[in-house]
Amino acid sequence: MHADPRIAKIYEQVVRRNAGEIEFHQAVKEVIDCLGPVLKKHPQYADQKVIERICEPERQIIFRVPWVDDRGEVQINRGFRVQFSSVLGPYKGGLRFHPSVYLGIIKFLGFEQIFKNAVTGMPIGGGKGGSDFDPKGRSDAEVMRFCQSFMTEMHRHLGEYTDVPAGDIGVGAREIGFLFGQYKRMTNRYESGVITGKSPQWGGALVRREATGYGCVFFVDEMLKARGKSVEGMKCVVSGSGNVAIYAIEKLEQLGAHVVACSDSNGVIHDPQGIRLDTVKRLKEVERRRIRDYTEAHREARYIEGGCIWDIPCQVALPCATENELDERAARTLLANGCIAVGEGANMPSTPGAVKLFVDSGIAYGPGKAANGGGVSTSALEMQQNASRDAWTFEFSEQRLHEIMRNIHRNCYETAEAYGSPGNYVIGANIAGFKRVAEAMLAFGVI
Ligand code: GLU
Repeated sequence: MHADPRIAKIYEQVVRRNAGEIEFHQAVKEVIDCLGPVLKKHPQYADQKVIERICEPERQIIFRVPWVDDRGEVQINRGFRVQFSSVLGPYKGGLRFHPSVYLGIIKFLGFEQIFKNAVTGMPIGGGKGGSDFDPKGRSDAEVMRFCQSFMTEMHRHLGEYTDVPAGDIGVGAREIGFLFGQYKRMTNRYESGVITGKSPQWGGALVRREATGYGCVFFVDEMLKARGKSVEGMKCVVSGSGNVAIYAIEKLEQLGAHVVACSDSNGVIHDPQGIRLDTVKRLKEVERRRIRDYTEAHREARYIEGGCIWDIPCQVALPCATENELDERAARTLLANGCIAVGEGANMPSTPGAVKLFVDSGIAYGPGKAANGGGVSTSALEMQQNASRDAWTFEFSEQRLHEIMRNIHRNCYETAEAYGSPGNYVIGANIAGFKRVAEAMLAFGVI
């Protein structure tokens, strides 16, 4: 039972209206369960039905993506763009290409994005998109044809002042290139600010590639500093081996931490001597291979097919793979093994049971909405550079990212304290993000 019956009613309504979209329900529940004290302090939010309005996307676009594969066979995928909230700026959020994608995944991601973006303090709304297309095993030519077909439909819904996508799982520099190229062709406009995560050679920002991973480590370091510690010397495990994981590992190493494991959806690499990042980068960024091949270059490392990375003892755990990858059992194991900090590089990687264990245990737990906001923040910096036709140096951009992560940390920390839950970054991030959106909604009237 919810402490506030108004919130229980809103949740019931969300479940009824969005039947079967379990990830969306989970994301909504986590946020609105934090809002009881906010409604008490600000009755106008309840009177004006602010929560009910936020839970309903402003616009949802679902479309057919037909394309022809290398064998000449016609393929049909489904494309999505959920434009959730534009009160703080143009819809902003990535595109995910993965076979698990359906409306419920895009809606959970879009919903999270509203609050994540709000907590950064930057002028960006929330949205998300993607497709059930699986780029794995597809040729460059197939990926290009898919992206061109996807953008042929989606271009009419985008714009630098309207909706600005970027990457997510399955969408990296290659896909962003094909998507931007087709947008330019459809609109006859070189509108750099319409998409972020571009190559720095044609309008992209330096540090965007590194930003989510680096930012997550900066955030964890801030949480530890608030407790008189730091990541230096810590034994870490980082799940995943994609863009977020790779650059989280890089920054951890730069700050003197020791990363002993990473993974992909097939298995886990445990390298007690320290994960060799050059090998991971070559396998994943250049050769597009699986993480099991790591042991070809490093015989001392162990590959555990189907293993659980959270069984490997560590002090700092960074889930950087995907949603619900860390369950209650894994959380128990981590805590029993002496883990003192968890920073979510992925979106909603911990199940509700795991979150509760982390929060109740009092360890430093940074939820994705706070800890992985560095990616989208650097996208906002990319939009800023595009708008002024400027390009900043790596050093300056990284310094800006670091400042932003410190601000996100302070914002969450102070909000949690103000609402009587010191050290609870879940409450801090959800309330800080919600209040910024809610204030703008009240100012704009019933829209
Ligand atoms: N997909 C990323 C996220 O989950 C980045 C979004 C963006 O840069 O717009 O925040």
